[in-house]
Amino acid sequence: MKYKILVFTRIFSYNNIRIMYAEIIVDVLNSEVDKVFDYLCPPNTCVPLGAKVLVPFGNRKIEGYVLNLKETTLLDTSKVKSIIRVFDDIPVIKPELIALCYKMKDIFHLRLIDGIRCVLPSQIRDGKVGHIEKRILSLDDETLMTYLPKVKANAKNEQGVIEYLRNNGSGDFTSLSKKFTSATLNKLLKLGVLTEVKQIQNRSVISGEKQKNNIKLTPTQQQAVDTILTDKNKRFLLHGVTGSGKTEVYLNVIENVLKTGKTAIMLVPEISLTPQVIRIFASRFGGNIAVLHSGLSAGEKHDEWCRIYSGEARVVVGARSAIFAPIENLGVIIIDEEHDNSYVSDSNPRYNTYDVAKIRNAYNDCPLVLGSATPSIETYHLTNTGELTLIEMPVRVNGKEMPPIDIVDMCNEFRSGNTTPFSKKLLADLTDTVNDNKQAILFINRRGYSSFIMCRDCGYIPKCENCDFSLVYHKEDGQLKCHYCGKRYRAINVCPNCMSKNLKMGGIGTQQVVQQLHELFPNVAVFRMDNDTTQNKNAHAKILGEFGSTKPSILVGTQMVAKGHDFPAVNLVGILDADLSLYFSDFRASEKTFQLITQVAGRAGRSDIEGKVVLQTYYPKHYVYNLCANYDYNKFFAKEVNLREATQYPPFGKIIRLLFTSENDEQAKHITHEAFINLKNLRVEYKNDFYFLEAMKSPVTKIKNKFRYQILMRFSVEKSEEIISKIYDYLNTIKLKDTTCFVEINPLSMS
Ligand code: ADP
Ligand code: ZN
Ligand code: ZN
Repeated sequence: MKYKILVFTRIFSYNNIRIMYAEIIVDVLNSEVDKVFDYLCPPNTCVPLGAKVLVPFGNRKIEGYVLNLKETTLLDTSKVKSIIRVFDDIPVIKPELIALCYKMKDIFHLRLIDGIRCVLPSQIRDGKVGHIEKRILSLDDETLMTYLPKVKANAKNEQGVIEYLRNNGSGDFTSLSKKFTSATLNKLLKLGVLTEVKQIQNRSVISGEKQKNNIKLTPTQQQAVDTILTDKNKRFLLHGVTGSGKTEVYLNVIENVLKTGKTAIMLVPEISLTPQVIRIFASRFGGNIAVLHSGLSAGEKHDEWCRIYSGEARVVVGARSAIFAPIENLGVIIIDEEHDNSYVSDSNPRYNTYDVAKIRNAYNDCPLVLGSATPSIETYHLTNTGELTLIEMPVRVNGKEMPPIDIVDMCNEFRSGNTTPFSKKLLADLTDTVNDNKQAILFINRRGYSSFIMCRDCGYIPKCENCDFSLVYHKEDGQLKCHYCGKRYRAINVCPNCMSKNLKMGGIGTQQVVQQLHELFPNVAVFRMDNDTTQNKNAHAKILGEFGSTKPSILVGTQMVAKGHDFPAVNLVGILDADLSLYFSDFRASEKTFQLITQVAGRAGRSDIEGKVVLQTYYPKHYVYNLCANYDYNKFFAKEVNLREATQYPPFGKIIRLLFTSENDEQAKHITHEAFINLKNLRVEYKNDFYFLEAMKSPVTKIKNKFRYQILMRFSVEKSEEIISKIYDYLNTIKLKDTTCFVEINPLSMS
């Protein structure tokens, strides 16, 4: 086994002190025992730092992890219990990652065990997924000599195996058994004619040879690379317009880092981990890379993780959780599309990828690079405070202008009798695209919004019984579905409230657009990419692949189509309903709108063909659209950051949301109320720093039958650490019973 070797080298390198006690965190879900306990190391047993162990705990035996080893304990030594067992078939947690868990506990107020679950994923931790082994068979020449004369003339399978192995030297059991039956192989193995060795087989997802790369960096790119490799401040924001060649900068930095013997972590949003992107990395670094994302099977994850752990893979390309990869000697960490929401974990354990990356960048003293065409306001602000060094790449690699954005007033369209989702302008451009044998992408913004049904007479909207959320009509199976819990309902054609038959479909959905396109362009391939069409593994990749290779064609989709794709034949991007994310009463609404539009627009005109963008809106005068149309990020930032400063929103203030959820409505309400009263005292104590405190029902009052209440607070950044600590101190004193409390700092969604 690969790990055992590593485990033992670790022990021997652990100084020469006589280790007698281990500090162990036990793996139980109850947060009250998130403490390390001292245990005795049994004599003559190797207890490596970071190992998984079995220990007595109360009158149970439970699993835990060794977080420190020491010679003495402050406890009464006669009472210290002994470790029962060391699991040596599970890899140890490396020292850097143990340190990381402690830091995460401090910064995110996570339990240690939550940190450990991050750094040791379940595929490794529970030991259920192992390596798969191939049984490699070959002939034993001596035994064969004596056996050959006894082979019967009609024993075709035996003759076949022997002949095959004489010609090929060896073969694996599984494939040989398909040709010659496993009974034959087993018989020959038993007789000793065949011998076998076991070989670990890698379920690696990387195929592809390293290829020679002949791209020469532009001076701007070269300068970016040089700055990243040499600047003393090791934290950077690479702000480059879409198509400015950021990926090439990342690749080059990683190449340089590998040459010095170090390693790299490259993070991209989950959705961008397309075969296209993986291929780019594989062709540059070959077998040196490992890929981690949620689309892998448990076995693949296990094997990729082990390749990183053992040092075989030196570049990790992955989604958010790859920041916890067990890679040593880091030379660079890159977070591409840093503004993407997927970098913030919004369910347990809650953490922010940038903050985790900072811990590893400090530990390894290596560069940390954030990259984006549309950095979040909070990140860009850090270039003003000096935390990040700004690197700008303001033009596209090929020197092409950004595609022009045409703003179309949809009120005018409606007034002139056009009730379709396509303005006359968009329809004309689509027709041109199709006639020119090119491709178009149509984007539908469905952030928290979907096509619902509404009664025109009484305003009734069907909602989910469990979730207080409008149901979404799905045409393909004629059902109403809840997008929060998945519950299905029969579609209605009469309002259950007032019996009216005057029902209206609200909003447009991807499905409806696809159907109308089929009617308008019966001979053109139309692809749809949204949550419903991408449920299956690799569905993204399949849709993008088919779209990429079909001309003319139209891709219709939600946010998913906005991310990083590079399709040279796309000359038209249509944004069907730009306004939807502006409706949200969220302080990031303008920012998210600006980002989305800029990103989608960036899909057009990436090669030598001209691109254009049609943006449909009911508010054509809105400043966000005009700044988008001018691709003026800097002006947008200036305006937005002023507004945030004046209103004390992030990055100038901190927003904390305490979300209480429970199946017991009364209990959740009561606990929220108690907490609110208590936090009022905190507001008095910090009266100059507290800007806002309010308790309320959450905008979505119920999800999966759990009632939701929240307390929102906003206070100054300067005192935030202190205040947040006190909030946690208070939360630790209350009995939550069946209620769960989530603490979110500057939450991405407040619904
Ligand atoms: P971004 O990530 O900034 O949107 P990409 O890295 O995808 O931009 O680059 C856009 C295109 O330009 C890609 O097709 C890439 O291969 C190409 N490219 C990047 N750098 C160079 C270069 N120095 N010379 C020629 N082509 C380049
Ligand atoms: Zn009605
Ligand atoms: Zn529901």
